[in-house]
Amino acid sequence: MEHLDILIVGAGLSGIGAACHLQTQHPGKRYAILESRRETGGTWSLFQYPGMRSDSDMYTFGYSFRPWTGAKSISDGPSILTYLREEAAHVTMLQRSPSYITALPAKDVVAELLRKVLPLRLAYRVARTKVILVTMFFYELSRRFPALFTRLIRGAQKKRLPADYDIDAHFKPHYKPWDQRVCVAPDGDLFDAIKAGRASIVTEHIDGFTEQGIRLKSGRTLPADIIVSATGLKLKALGGIRLGVDGVLLDMGKIFTYKGIMLGNVPNMAFCVGYTNASWTLRADLSSLFICRLLNYMDQHGYRRVGPKADDEALQPPIPLLSFTSGYVLRSLDQFPKQSGKAPWRLRQNYLVDLLNLRLRPIDDGTLVFSA
Ligand SMILES: Cc1cc2nc3c(=O)[nH]c(=O)nc-3n(C[C@H](O)[C@H](O)[C@H](O)COP(=O)(O)OP(=O)(O)OC[C@H]3O[C@@H](n4cnc5c(N)ncnc54)[C@H](O)[C@@H]3O)c2cc1C
Repeated sequence: MEHLDILIVGAGLSGIGAACHLQTQHPGKRYAILESRRETGGTWSLFQYPGMRSDSDMYTFGYSFRPWTGAKSISDGPSILTYLREEAAHVTMLQRSPSYITALPAKDVVAELLRKVLPLRLAYRVARTKVILVTMFFYELSRRFPALFTRLIRGAQKKRLPADYDIDAHFKPHYKPWDQRVCVAPDGDLFDAIKAGRASIVTEHIDGFTEQGIRLKSGRTLPADIIVSATGLKLKALGGIRLGVDGVLLDMGKIFTYKGIMLGNVPNMAFCVGYTNASWTLRADLSSLFICRLLNYMDQHGYRRVGPKADDEALQPPIPLLSFTSGYVLRSLDQFPKQSGKAPWRLRQNYLVDLLNLRLRPIDDGTLVFSA
């Protein structure tokens, strides 16, 4: 049997990132990546439906160690949407309820300028820091002053859409900004397509499918040649791995998470969860770097086992891991570990706080228990 120091499960964005950090920080460690699919890339190779793309900018969605050099700062998904646009006369987005959608430039002119005057790595670093701070500013603004943020988004939509467009029906969500993700339309492509008559939005419920298209609950039929379903995302915690310690199976839904990286009373195991309000990679990077620091500490002291000691009574009441109201999050909450209101058992959606906690605070914080 081959013995390894570290086993990474999954060759998605987080697993590949973790391996890169390990390779540079712990070149002597033996590790392997296990991937259940035939290809790497995780989410980004699995989902190939038309319109699939990131709503993150590439300066923070890219890894900290590998500068993004592409011209577009909001990354493309597979280009099937282009195919559809060329092939179909009209695309209709049928949605059950509206989301916040805002236009952002697909190209980051500041980043492009920086690349012209600074060395590549430095330019990437500055652009990345700028995006982190701007994103955090707008997130905080939206949470503290939701009415102002909503007015800003609506004002921008009004300018781009036809004068008589029913913004309330299709763009006025029933929740506050960032209770669910705020969607981005690069260069306002969605608004331009609506204005040009190439696309439209219908906000209604599906009743069934007919030979002609989709029958809506209102009785109306939406004619369609091609129907693309992009609904019903089901999250699966840890890819469905059954977790046990010494042969005893654990119920992940009842375990508290330590710093959003390890699980209470579970030794030698860490996982990656990214941000819901910023690029996933920012937190995946911080998590991997924290584990590299932890491994350093263990090597220095000759420890082989580490786990956070959790007193479940003291950590009550449990708080959901992700404080999002999106259906796909709510549907799967019971599968995911819990957080507590008390540090270090909280998962903050804040890069600067995490930077401090994961990069600078001492590893031995009295909660992690080490043994040889
Ligand atoms: C539709 C969609 C849109 C998104 N948009 C954005 C966005 O715009 N910005 C953003 O920051 N994030 C976005 N995300 C979040 C996205 O999940 C992250 O960006 C990121 O790709 C997650 O990477 P990961 O490696 O952690 O997980 P995954 O990409 O899920 O990779 C996990 C890998 O592990 C493998 N695996 C699972 N279980 C096992 C097992 N038991 N054995 C072996 N291999 C296993 C899987 O096959 C997979 O390849 C989006 C997610 C979805 C689903």
